[in-house]
Order: sequence, then structure tokens, then C-alpha cells
Amino acid sequence: MAARAETITLIEQPEVINRRTDNPLFNVHYLHANVVDHKHGIFAPGVEEDVLEQDVTDIAEADVHKLAPIVIQRFDPNRQQFISLGTGTVDNNIRGVESLDTEDPDSLFEFHRRVEEVTDEVSILDPEVNSAMRRGKKKLSLSPTPTHHEVDPDVAASFGYDDRTMLRLQSLSADGQTKAMQSFSLFDVPTKAWASYLSDRYGEEVEPTALAIMQFCNRVILEEGSNEEIVNDFLNGVMNYLEEDDRISVKRQLDAFLNEQAELKLKARAYAEEKLAVEKELALSLNGWASQPILTLVRNVYENLESTHKELLDQRFDGQNLYVDDLVALLVLKIKTVTIDNRAGLATMNERTVRRVASRIGLEATIGLAEREQHIYQMQQMEPGVDNVFMVLRNEQLIAEAGVGCGGGCSVEVVGLFSEDARIALEAGLGKGTLYSSSDLDKNSKCNCGKHGKKAKVISDGQNVVCTTCRTYQVRGKRGQLKAVA
Ligand SMILES: [Zn+2]
Repeated sequence: MAARAETITLIEQPEVINRRTDNPLFNVHYLHANVVDHKHGIFAPGVEEDVLEQDVTDIAEADVHKLAPIVIQRFDPNRQQFISLGTGTVDNNIRGVESLDTEDPDSLFEFHRRVEEVTDEVSILDPEVNSAMRRGKKKLSLSPTPTHHEVDPDVAASFGYDDRTMLRLQSLSADGQTKAMQSFSLFDVPTKAWASYLSDRYGEEVEPTALAIMQFCNRVILEEGSNEEIVNDFLNGVMNYLEEDDRISVKRQLDAFLNEQAELKLKARAYAEEKLAVEKELALSLNGWASQPILTLVRNVYENLESTHKELLDQRFDGQNLYVDDLVALLVLKIKTVTIDNRAGLATMNERTVRRVASRIGLEATIGLAEREQHIYQMQQMEPGVDNVFMVLRNEQLIAEAGVGCGGGCSVEVVGLFSEDARIALEAGLGKGTLYSSSDLDKNSKCNCGKHGKKAKVISDGQNVVCTTCRTYQVRGKRGQLKAVA
């Protein structure tokens, strides 16, 4: 059981896989390389803020889908490209292309997409595009999920794609030194609707494949106006090509893009700060003994971990001490990511999170978790730095016990993280397919959406109901609401 520091090997990563998004430990290594004062836990200026910005984006993509986070990148005159977390964005995307095995037919679709990501970055440096953008034009990119004509859906899922379109708007400052990139996860717009809309809007035939749409954006689309105006214009446009249900869904998402950003950003940031705190502890503990917060986090969910992960930890425990190498850091990061993404999703009543968690532990318990998250958040707002560790740990334990996974867009792979035992027991007790959508909270009482001219989105298990638009719920006949902001 005892671990000797020198016997532990670091994770062996193939040389080529170092694109930031391919390496879940990137932030931890970046923090680790920028420790200024180990004893006091001080990092180089700007480093923590960089990682925090990244964490907000990760949480938004994973489980706060209505948030459209903005990332700021500065131009590096030496590298002649924009940089993010110490890496050139062009270089980073080229590495992403190089890391794929072109002999493997399964990853060929991703190869072509990554080439478009390089083109996207490079085109902004092109003198003509660059000067237009410095005068206020914006580059719009649409990345729909690959269609089943392009790749087997299971293979697409293994690359983290679900049924969303990533919509991205990039703009430059007048001096060209700063780039702002806002990204938004949009669901329920099929690729063929994008293709038809773009074809009609630009008077040029666009093939109904995700790749063709990415290529078309790289070739054509510079827009003018505020981000709100552009997104409003595009979503209202594409709505005309959708079926009624999808149109309502897109209306709802557009409404959130236009009206809920400030609040969603505050909440996502609070969760990102909690994740950053763990990443800092990992960076300071790396290649040494785990700090107390890391030990607490690990012990809290240890019993619910899958057996190979328990063994991995057992081999590195020396009495009460835990040696942190890359494998332990990765495991801790996975635990924190899956729990924090789900917690953030519940706190903001993210539709897909509510469904995912409810399918494991039932709707009533899911709403209970969401209520506790609201309480944790409110305590934090009223009294910054308040000790709410106990409540946080309890919620993380419940998520681990339930073996809740994460959806598409999650920054880490968490399949097989938690024990199968919990999963099987829960599924036996719950049964599958017990959730359904309903138009109202119940026959007699509508939710608050009608009053505010919004479209309700109600999830029900037959007894309990929740509207993910206005966050009103009804549990055992009793109504409540998750408040927007404390
Ligand atoms: Zn509602």
C-alpha cells in the first residue's frame, strides 16, 4: 500500500496529443508551471484569471447551455497569433490536427473539422479579414454536430458531440491587439435547416453537412452589429426552417441569450471559482503529497468509485498521505468536473442536466439537490467565504452515489468513474423512461411562464413537475421556485 515518490510514473501522453482541449490536465499543468510561491500558494499574475475564464466556458458547454461565455485573447507579436493560456491559438489548433491518426477512418471526419478550426484562426490574421474586423465586422462560425451521413453517431458521441450547434462570434479591437470570442451552445437546429437557411440568405447552395457549413462560414460570413443583433437575426432567420417544437425551443434559447446572461454568468463563475480552487490545490500538490482539501474531496466519494480507481488511489496512499501524480490529478479533476458541472446545471435548471440527474435519482430528489445548490449559492452571496463545505460535500456524494455522468461538451471523459453497483441498484429502483414532458405544471395551475410571455418547458415524472424555463416546481403537491438571483 505504501507509495514511494520515486516509484510513481507520470502519465504517458503521446507526444503529439497536446492540443489544449485534448489534454484535460492542461489547466493544472499550466498552474503548476506558474507557481511563484509554493508555500503561500501564489501564482504568476493573470494565470488564475486565465484558468477561471476557461473553467466558466467549460461549465457553460457542459451544463449551463444558455450561457454564452466570452473569452478574451491577446495578440502576441512574437508569435504573430492570438494566445490563450500561454499557447498560440493557431499552433494549438494545428497540434489538434496533427494529433489525429489520418490512417484511422473513424477519425477522418474530425480531421476535416479540425482543419476548419485552423482555417478559422488563420483567416482572422488574413490582412483583408483582419482590417474588416478591426473596423467592426465580426466573424460568425457555425459548427453543427456531424450528421449521420458524415460519421456513425456512436463515433461522433465518442468525440463528445451531441446534437448541438456551436455558434461563435469573434470580434477584434480597433488596434487589432485583442480578440473577443463569444460562444453559444444551440440545440434543436438540424443541420439541414442551417444549410437551407444559409443557401437562401446568401443565394448560394450549401450542402446539408456539418462540414460544408463550417467551410461556408470560413469562406463567407462576416457580419455587422452587436452580438445580440447578429444572433437575433440568425436565429429568427433559421426558425423559419424549423418544425413547430424546434422553433419554440430556439425561441426559448434566444430569449435566454438576450435576457439571462448576467445572472447565468454570475452563477457559472461561482462554480468555476470552486473548480479553480481544486485545480490550484492539485497544481500545488502535484508530484508531492495531497493537500487537505484534495484528501477531503477524494475520501468523500471514495466508496462510490469504480474499483480500478480505488486501486489506483490505494497504491498511492501512505498512511494518511496521498501521493499526487498525473493519474491521481486526473482522477480528482474528473470527480470535481462531473460533480461541479451537474451542480451548476441544477442550480440554473439546465434542461438536459435535470433530465440526466432525474433519470438516476428521480425528479423529487433532483429538485432537492437543486434547492440545496441554491442555498449554497445564497449563503456564499450573503457571506463570501462562508463555510459551506459540508453541504457541498453532501451534494457531491449524492451525485457520486447515483453514478451520474455528464453530457456532450464535458471537458473530461467520465464513463466508468463511479461504481456500477450504485448504478444498478438505482436503475432497479427507478425504472427507465419514467420522465415525460407536459405542457403545464398541472391541470389547474400553470407555471410563471405564461405571465411573462415565455414558453414553458416542463419535465414531469407523473407526480412531480418542474419548468426549466421559469424554475417553478411542484413536489408532492407543494410549489416552489428556484430564484433567479439571490
Ligand atoms: Zn415556466
